[in-house]
Amino acid sequence: MSDAKARGRYVVALDQGTTSSRAVLVDHDGQMVDVVQREFTQIYPRPGWVEHNPQEILFSQLGSLTGLLQRHGLGADDIACIGIDNQRETTIVWDPTTGEPVMNAIVWQCRRTAQMIEERCSDPEVAAKIQAKTGLLPDAYFSASKIAWILENVPGARQRAEAGELLFGTVDTWLVWVLTGGLVHATDVTNASRTMLYNIHEGCWDPWLLDLFDIPASMMPEVRRSSGSFGETSYPGVPAGIPITGVAGDQQSALFGQCCFEAGQAKNTYGTGCFLLLHTGGEACASKNSLVTTIAASAPDVDHTEYALEGSVFVAGAVIQWLRDELGLIRTADETEYLAKSVPDNGGVYIVPAFTGLGAPYWAPDARGTICGLTRGANRSHIVRAALESLAYQSADLVRAMEADAGAPIATLNVDGGASRNDFLMQFQADLLGCELRRPQNIETTSLGAAYLAGLAVGFWSGTDELRGLRSTDDVFGRKMDEAQVETYLAGWKDAVRRTL
Ligand code: ADP
Repeated sequence: MSDAKARGRYVVALDQGTTSSRAVLVDHDGQMVDVVQREFTQIYPRPGWVEHNPQEILFSQLGSLTGLLQRHGLGADDIACIGIDNQRETTIVWDPTTGEPVMNAIVWQCRRTAQMIEERCSDPEVAAKIQAKTGLLPDAYFSASKIAWILENVPGARQRAEAGELLFGTVDTWLVWVLTGGLVHATDVTNASRTMLYNIHEGCWDPWLLDLFDIPASMMPEVRRSSGSFGETSYPGVPAGIPITGVAGDQQSALFGQCCFEAGQAKNTYGTGCFLLLHTGGEACASKNSLVTTIAASAPDVDHTEYALEGSVFVAGAVIQWLRDELGLIRTADETEYLAKSVPDNGGVYIVPAFTGLGAPYWAPDARGTICGLTRGANRSHIVRAALESLAYQSADLVRAMEADAGAPIATLNVDGGASRNDFLMQFQADLLGCELRRPQNIETTSLGAAYLAGLAVGFWSGTDELRGLRSTDDVFGRKMDEAQVETYLAGWKDAVRRTL
């Protein structure tokens, strides 16, 4: 037993999301004992622009942490370590002497730099070079163009950055810097791999990319492994001396929290959108199907970089919100399960929720949504069912694309996220894929991943074998539908997508 284990009964995960910050108390059995959540403001300065106030992110996160500790009467000695998982790509630039950000955080969803990406990256040779170095398809989503925008638009920022007077960080870096009293300016490999400035093969900030976006190297944080030391807490109002020993971007954290530690293991998160990640071990698998290659979080005993393929569905749970808020067909998301089960099949109705275009493997940003196959007998339940099924079809398309890129089938899909509670959806997904779906009792795998990464680094848990053992019995879904019927459903979906395109 290590000192750290003797010293604390709990690990705290700081789950810094896009709309809220949460502090999660995790015990030695991997159980989530309690959660405190604080929301913060979404700022929309113009259509398509999204910002957060970095101080508000900070205070919501600190408020949730101190609130959690106070509620349980806990001090520094009770907490073995802190792990952080965070919204990825969101960009903050600040002055380390004052601790003041030069402007609001530019959030991952913000499209203000779409034009810049078009100008600097549309040359196919440039785009190919970016993909080869970073595993990413050039997009305004990633941090690179957001940093460049700040340097070009905030008065004096460029000169200050070139004089070494400004720092860049994704949200993890900002939190670590503040929590350690300004001592540690660092990020982890998973967050670095989402900036579009990090060479995922060589493991360094890439000079050619920094040059392309005109970003001084002095702004960039040190890159550390996801499970290891990021300093200790040293901030007024927070118990001092708690080691921060885990950091990962939210999706990679969820992959780790699902105990996907090895090549071939995959998870799909069914939230507002869906995020599918497949661990590919030490191999950085390049995609031919518009997926991205990213770095996976590793346990401390792994001595090489591990990678994952990632794909996302833009509109997943959001289509259920649309049924509720725009169509008024349901009052709560939970009702969809009962309604979908109340009809024997989809009645030929398909919804392709391409509200903001279609993502991988189609890449049709200008496509818009469709409902097709309507007959006089189509009713509310058929439409609700078609909406739910659309999450499964879109995810199945991604799974197939990923299998093609990885050159191997996905035998088990671990699921989580709010919509994974829906048994109808999970069964339909298993029917379509013909693989085994596993839903853990605790679907809050994102925070669990950060807790695991932090806990492994201090010996709170002995290794990944112990973590696997913590997982209580999963709900398992397998194919029940006969294959001919699956083919009929899939043909109907393909036809609906064709009409949408
Ligand atoms: P996020 O983290 O993206 O905000 P969550 O993981 O909290 O999302 O999941 C919320 C999403 O899941 C919402 O879009 C909601 O419509 C959908 N959802 C929640 N419960 C269900 C359910 N029982 N069936 C289908 N969809 C659901």
